[in-house]
Amino acid sequence: MEVTNSINEMALRQLDLTADRIGLDLNVRARLGRPDRALIVSVPTRMDNDSVRVFTGYRVQHNDALGPFKGGIRYHPDVNLGEVSALAMWMTWKCSLVGLPFGGAKGGITCDPTALSGKEIQGMTRRYTAEILNFIGPQTDIPAPDMGTNEQVMAWIMDTYSQHKGYAVPGIVTGKPVDIGGTLGRREATGRGIGYIVEQAANHLGMELSKCNALVQGFGNVGLVTARELGRLGVNVVGVSDRSGGIYNPKGLPIENVVRFKKQNKKLLEYPQGEKIAGKEFLELPCEILVPSATEMQITKENAGRLKCRLLVEGANGPTTLEADKILSEKGVLVIPDILANAGGVIVSYFEWVQDLQNFFWTEEEVNNKLNGMLTRTFHEVLKLSQKERVSLRLAALMIAVQRVGRAMLLRGLYA
Ligand code: NAD
Repeated sequence: MEVTNSINEMALRQLDLTADRIGLDLNVRARLGRPDRALIVSVPTRMDNDSVRVFTGYRVQHNDALGPFKGGIRYHPDVNLGEVSALAMWMTWKCSLVGLPFGGAKGGITCDPTALSGKEIQGMTRRYTAEILNFIGPQTDIPAPDMGTNEQVMAWIMDTYSQHKGYAVPGIVTGKPVDIGGTLGRREATGRGIGYIVEQAANHLGMELSKCNALVQGFGNVGLVTARELGRLGVNVVGVSDRSGGIYNPKGLPIENVVRFKKQNKKLLEYPQGEKIAGKEFLELPCEILVPSATEMQITKENAGRLKCRLLVEGANGPTTLEADKILSEKGVLVIPDILANAGGVIVSYFEWVQDLQNFFWTEEEVNNKLNGMLTRTFHEVLKLSQKERVSLRLAALMIAVQRVGRAMLLRGLYA
């Protein structure tokens, strides 16, 4: 099937550029441009006023040459087949790049979770799980949280799946609460991984972190932990933003204070001790380190030229368009691509899955040390190739990832 929209087109263009560069086998290339399987399901949900609303849900499985499908589930009004397909393809590259035995998938429901009650989200989640039940499993496809979903949603998926099987199946999802088989360190993993990557990148650029200011766009699972981790590294976080807008204070923001405020008031924009910055202008504020951790296509040819950062670390998936990449490279901004920068989430999801399958759990220190080791090794592998081939870190990361998947496909051959 062919899926078109601007985000999926961006993912396909990245694949084309990479395939040209590595001389990818043409048959493999044609196959990788399409997902293995894409499901669209109706999700009838009883609302609190007793009416029934039918949501649309998706699960796209891109490629499983390296192992079972793995990827998050997103609840957001913009979720559509093209977006989910692109995100599934990026998961294939991410798992391959960091050497995990997983293929890529992604799922989602087109909805605004902030406008739904907990009961409604639970009902919608359970019905969605039932609709995709025959296509997921601990050996086939393992979902995880993404934008708009969290540990509680994973617990409901795990419970629904387990009720159908007749026994507890913790390995069906990752990113679930520790009490039901989650791992220590998963909630923080993506932001923590960004911290490890920032350390390596700053070292490479000769930047002293205690003299750097940072902006973090998005203040959810990824952005909030990233802001904390940057603070731990001595970076001065001068701006954070969420859907309501951004707050900026050139002297630095007291992150724990902002977290408490956000928990109580929901909207960051109302935080009293900072300048309010609406919209994408937030990204153009002065800083050394910029971490977009919200959504796709935030940095485009329109605003790339106005960014002030020296280091751009992609916490979100697909925040930078190809045109923006070119402008940033000309400006000398080092871009750490999403499939490397935010891979901490899926790496610790892998650790969770391994622990569930073995019923043997690790300490948080073990989790963090292994995470740091894998990310640091991959960062240097990507850096080395980018220097050798004189290409961006994004292209180098994609070259390693696509090459590995391509090799696996050729080894396994075509079943026909
Ligand atoms: P989340 O739902 O926990 O948080 C998203 C945050 O972004 C919220 O604070 C929201 O208000 C904000 N936001 C949304 N649109 C915005 C906009 N236009 N401008 C500014 N802020 C905006 O989601 P998350 O899990 O933190 O995921 C964020 C990004 O990171 C997504 O691209 C996701 O695919 C990616 N990611 C997440 C994980 C993970 O482990 N959760 C792992 C890898 C990548």
